[in-house]
This record gives sequence, structure tokens and C-alpha cells, in this order.
Amino acid sequence: MEIFIEPIGKLINEFSKLPGVGKKTAQRYAYKIVNMSKGEAEEFARAIVDCKAKVRYCKICGNFSEEEVCEICKTRDKSVICVVRDPRDVVAMEKLREYKGVYHVLHGVINPMEGVGPNDIHIKELLARIDGSVKEVIMATNPDVEGEATAMYIAKLLKPLGVNVTRLAHGIPIGGELEYTDEVTLSRALSERKSL
Ligand SMILES: [Zn+2]
Repeated sequence: MEIFIEPIGKLINEFSKLPGVGKKTAQRYAYKIVNMSKGEAEEFARAIVDCKAKVRYCKICGNFSEEEVCEICKTRDKSVICVVRDPRDVVAMEKLREYKGVYHVLHGVINPMEGVGPNDIHIKELLARIDGSVKEVIMATNPDVEGEATAMYIAKLLKPLGVNVTRLAHGIPIGGELEYTDEVTLSRALSERKSL
């Protein structure tokens, strides 16, 4: 016999697919939903469905966007491009409220051990964006082995195009992630960035 009646068991199963959510937490979440008003529960479900229906990738930078081109690409200084691994890193940089340029989201880093090569991430899309108006590309991949290797690989491709390539200064713990770096440290890493 199943411990949970079927609809609740199903909900627990869905919640346990989320990162960091174990069986116990999934169970707590499911019971919370069961105890919500019908309106609240519908709003919760609608937020999930809407996210899938309305969120797409900006065709220029690859960040999440509601429109074909995101707000950042539309409104900001296009002469500086900050290159990051994924959309969560854009959020980390945006929290600083001091970066005025645009982004390029690679959607991964080069990782031969896991079979991810340069063609599997958005490098050629970045190269296509480099024209005379781009003055600087800031490599803001994480300071781990793959992040460093990816930054070096891209820097090598960009240099012949006459663009200044910089790297966030150290201070972000080695092996650490932008997403989990405190704002003071990330802010310093940005302002003290070095040429590659
Ligand atoms: Zn964009």
C-alpha cells in the first residue's frame, strides 16, 4: 500500500525533482499546497506554466528574456560585453548595480571530461557580436579549471579581432562560483579586472 494517496504522492514526486529538495522537504511542500486555498494553488501552478510559455532566450546575448531581445541588450552600453557561463551569473553581476555593459551567456564551459567542446557552448555567437563598436570583453567565467580554460580559449580567439579582453580579478575563491560570491568580493573582482 502506498503511504500517500495518489495525487499527493504525485506532487511529492514532482517537488523532489527540484535541486536540494529531499523526500521530507518535498512532503512538506506538498502538504503546504494541499492546505492552500484553490486560488493560491492555481496561482502557484500558473506561475510554473507561464514561465515555460513566456521565457525564452534573448537572440543576442542568450540570457532569459520575455521578448526576442532582452531589456539589457536593448538599453545598455554595447561596447562592453561580460561573458558568463549561465543566466544565474547574470543575476549575480546585476545585483552589484554597477556594471553598465551587456552580457554574453555561454550556456556552459568547455569541459573535455564531460564531452563539452568549444562547439557545444555559445562561442561562435560571441565572435559574431564582435565588431568595431566592442571595446572590451570581460571574461567572467568561474575561477575553476573549466572556467579558466574557457576564458583562455576565448581570449585567444578574440585578441586577433583587436578587442581588449579582461578577466575578473582574483578574490573570488578558487573553485568558487560567481553565483555564491558575496557582492563586495565580486564588485572588487570586477573593478580590478586584468587584461588577458
Ligand atoms: Zn540580451
